[in-house]
Amino acid sequence: KAGENPQIDPEIMKKHLEITEGQVITRFPPEPNGYLHIGHAKAINVNFGYAKTHGGRCNLRYDDTNPEAEEEKYITSILETVKWLGFEPSKILYASDYFKELHSMAVRLIERGLGYVCHCTGDEIYQQRGGESMGPRTACVHRERPIAESLEEFKKMKDGRYAAGEAILRMKMDLEDGNPQMWDLVAYRVMYATHHRTGNDWCIYPTYDFAHCLCDSIENITHSLCTTEFTQSRKSYYWLCDAVEVYKPVQWEYGRLNVTNTILSKRKLLKLIESGNVSALDDPRLYTLPALRRRGVPAAAINGFVRELGVTTAKTNIEVGRLESHIRDCLNSIAPRLMAVLNPIKVRLTNFSGTLNFEVPFKPRDPTFGVHTVPFTDTLYIDASDFRTVDSKDYYRLAPGKTVGLLYAPFPITCTEVVHDENGNISELLCRYEDGSDGKPTPKPKTFIQWISDCPSRGSPIMLNEVRIYNGLFLHPNPYDKTVVPGGWLSDINPNSLEVVKNVMVESGLYNLIHKFATDVGSKDKFANGNFEELRFQFLRTGYFCIDKDSIIPNEFIELSHKLTS
Ligand code: ATP
Ligand code: MG
Ligand code: MG
Repeated sequence: KAGENPQIDPEIMKKHLEITEGQVITRFPPEPNGYLHIGHAKAINVNFGYAKTHGGRCNLRYDDTNPEAEEEKYITSILETVKWLGFEPSKILYASDYFKELHSMAVRLIERGLGYVCHCTGDEIYQQRGGESMGPRTACVHRERPIAESLEEFKKMKDGRYAAGEAILRMKMDLEDGNPQMWDLVAYRVMYATHHRTGNDWCIYPTYDFAHCLCDSIENITHSLCTTEFTQSRKSYYWLCDAVEVYKPVQWEYGRLNVTNTILSKRKLLKLIESGNVSALDDPRLYTLPALRRRGVPAAAINGFVRELGVTTAKTNIEVGRLESHIRDCLNSIAPRLMAVLNPIKVRLTNFSGTLNFEVPFKPRDPTFGVHTVPFTDTLYIDASDFRTVDSKDYYRLAPGKTVGLLYAPFPITCTEVVHDENGNISELLCRYEDGSDGKPTPKPKTFIQWISDCPSRGSPIMLNEVRIYNGLFLHPNPYDKTVVPGGWLSDINPNSLEVVKNVMVESGLYNLIHKFATDVGSKDKFANGNFEELRFQFLRTGYFCIDKDSIIPNEFIELSHKLTS
């Protein structure tokens, strides 16, 4: 069918094969107008993955044809993100590299009688295209103007003799076609904007419809892989390559990926920032790739998630839980374990004195993670949530008269007395260390809790100013659904999406982890540059954490970590 299976001129094909030597060449073509998000991770895996599977190459091409929206900082961030996901572009290119070539192709289009300069307003064009009902189309008066006149008018556009909106270049396609992408699309428009790479060289810029297929063609892309919203555009894509008589790649479509419980649209992300609901585009509650990275999510978890979904044409809204389960699996295998106490209560052992040293694994049953030493003294801290003044049968942690195990310690403790201060708040728990020293049999605990000894000479506890716990940003899986969220997506914000816990205690094993990260060949540069997100750990019984990039690790702390570890 016309426009469906590209028939390629044998001469053009021969030249193409000489250049590519028959290799597959794909491209990932982001517009540098924002950070990449979880949906782009699919596009990246599809394009780089398809090329890799076939022994080919994949270019990173910035689709920078709209200077009003694009910024240098996004260019940097996009490349960093692609590399972070583990992909190395074969070439880094810009649509703006081809502005001259694209302009010549536009001239060629006019010369071949397949393009014309039009002065209709947006509304007039809308009416010509059949208005709301997309009814019968009408040609405008400029459509049949002489080729020479269009060439001259196009030059005037380029020379800055028209204001924005006064003239556009349109493709002379097929108004009878049922596909709206064939109704004389706009190819070039006048825009007085400074481009981040070409400055003020141009005041006309090609549209996506014009530039995309021709950039693919110039780069000898073999497979132009894009999302299904472009299925109708396949026809105009092929039409334009044929119209200017250039090599024509094959376009294949795949379904866009979305995840529940979040939003990805750039405009809405900016609204979230403006309204103060999140701090930045890389706020760890968002699903931009820099946000996920900052949150400590491993790239392998994202790639694993995307690959498991596979490539189909279905547009999917995948439950965020599926991504989370990849993240947990990944972190489970790479994150060392530490004990941390978020809300400390003091425990004093009345029948113990001195200091013991326990050798504790960073990951139980996995010797490759190594071990560290944890001091044990008569003063410990446990988490307030592991103690209750009123016991009950189904409760297994600490309460008056009750025994609980301490992770990694050989013996449990039993609470013998609760001491209150003058305000009636608990000031400490008096406990017996059940090591059998007083001749009593050691009770068997039903569960084990984390704890941290007070032993300043061994660097215990480490005090953290602040720990951040992130919960879903939205209350509903689909904040867009007006039937569930009548007030609109912005009214669906979870008021507890960020919990900040102050003055958290961590066991001294954190010194070992910091020392290792700051000195290992693979990570020391990251550490020096303040990129700590790979410094990840599990706080036992609490969750996974990493050190956020806005953290300040004092020099004394780093020095102490080297001293205590060596
Ligand atoms: P937006 O409308 O949010 O700007 P876009 O599709 O224009 O999205 P680009 O930066 O131009 O964003 O996208 C680069 C590539 O990534 C394109 O090939 C696009 O089809 C693909 N892509 C974008 N979003 C998704 C998604 N949610 N799922 C899969 N692929 C996507
Ligand atoms: Mg875009
Ligand atoms: Mg785009």
